[in-house]
Amino acid sequence: MSQTDFSRKAGYFLLTDYVKGFLLGMRYFFAPKVTLNYPHEKGPLSPRFRGEHALRRYPNGEERCIACKLCEAVCPAQAITIDAEPRDDGSRRTTRYDIDMTKCIYCGFCQEACPVDAIVEGPNFEFSTETREELYYDKDKLLDNGARWEAEIARNLEMDAPYR
Ligand code: SF4
Ligand code: SF4
Repeated sequence: MSQTDFSRKAGYFLLTDYVKGFLLGMRYFFAPKVTLNYPHEKGPLSPRFRGEHALRRYPNGEERCIACKLCEAVCPAQAITIDAEPRDDGSRRTTRYDIDMTKCIYCGFCQEACPVDAIVEGPNFEFSTETREELYYDKDKLLDNGARWEAEIARNLEMDAPYR
């Protein structure tokens, strides 16, 4: 019997493959897990994460958006539609601000173009829907998003400010 045959047969007899596999399994059983139990656990998000859109207000409740339409002009997907008219006090505000989220490619250009940090892409990525119509966002929906996520959005903008 050759040396190689002897080693192989000794390995079968002593269950070395089984023991090696068991030890490997035990090593990973006690090692820190790389998987997350989503949705109960979530991974970290960058302050620059580009999620669901939101329109922000100032702390006094006034809309930030001044209807300059830069976001509409820069949007490569032509997903944004804005109508605007002056208010009685002469300020210019939108009467319509729609985003067709089925067109959006989450490039972030709208956020970058906005001079007053009104339109932003917030940290929310859990906004899947069952119908296309639910992804046609209007101004009320976007302002609601802004109110809901303002704390996180403001913190992310502050963290990113030194790099802009
Ligand atoms: S993220 Fe890009 S594609 Fe989406 S609305 Fe903004 S500019 Fe348009
Ligand atoms: S969201 Fe910003 S860029 Fe778009 S119209 Fe309003 S102020 Fe201008």
